[in-house]
Amino acid sequence: MNIVLLGAPGSGKGFVANLLQNIENFYQLSTGDILRHQIKLESEIGKQAENYMKTGALVPDEIVIGVFKEELNELKKHHKNFIFDGFPRSLNQAELLDQIINIDKVILLDVPYDVIIDRILSRRVCSGCAKVYSTKEYSSDKCECGANLIVRPDDNLSVIKNRLNNYDEYIAPIIEYYKNQNKLISLNVNTTGENILNNLKQLF
Ligand code: AMP
Repeated sequence: MNIVLLGAPGSGKGFVANLLQNIENFYQLSTGDILRHQIKLESEIGKQAENYMKTGALVPDEIVIGVFKEELNELKKHHKNFIFDGFPRSLNQAELLDQIINIDKVILLDVPYDVIIDRILSRRVCSGCAKVYSTKEYSSDKCECGANLIVRPDDNLSVIKNRLNNYDEYIAPIIEYYKNQNKLISLNVNTTGENILNNLKQLF
């Protein structure tokens, strides 16, 4: 089974992906993580992507699609069930995804933007293993793995607003695309983790 998770930046795609892993053995593929890894490696792709990412703009399809396809083709050799987090972000990407893999369900995370802004500003990410924390629940500046927790460079208010504006623009045609395929399911994520898990279980 393959699932696409759609949701505004900070809507909790990573969190929901972790919950889904309790239900089935999914591999979570996040294009944001792939691009951040390329930046860390200081690769050519990473250098190009960084310029867009730091302002909250989308990275152009020609840069994202190549690196995504390469990663997915490699992972398909070892994994069967995928969760796509942060991909597709354009109609072009949605059409490409349909050409390379069968998508069973598309889950759209539903949460108000003021909640999102609050969540993003308290988000900390491990510089080692990429685990995500909230300062509201975790006060240490070190991850459980021992590495430092950092604020993602694109997690500041003006960049967040830009990312949310971009999201509004790019998501509409993607929602329409999956609605027409009868694959779209809306999930309220402005509630407890327990409620979200129960609602997710009903989808299977
Ligand atoms: P995320 O971790 O999903 O919030 O992504 C962080 C940033 O990476 C986004 O703001 C974009 O600049 C870039 N990005 C991630 N996935 C994509 C994609 N599928 N297409 C274009 N840009 C992307």
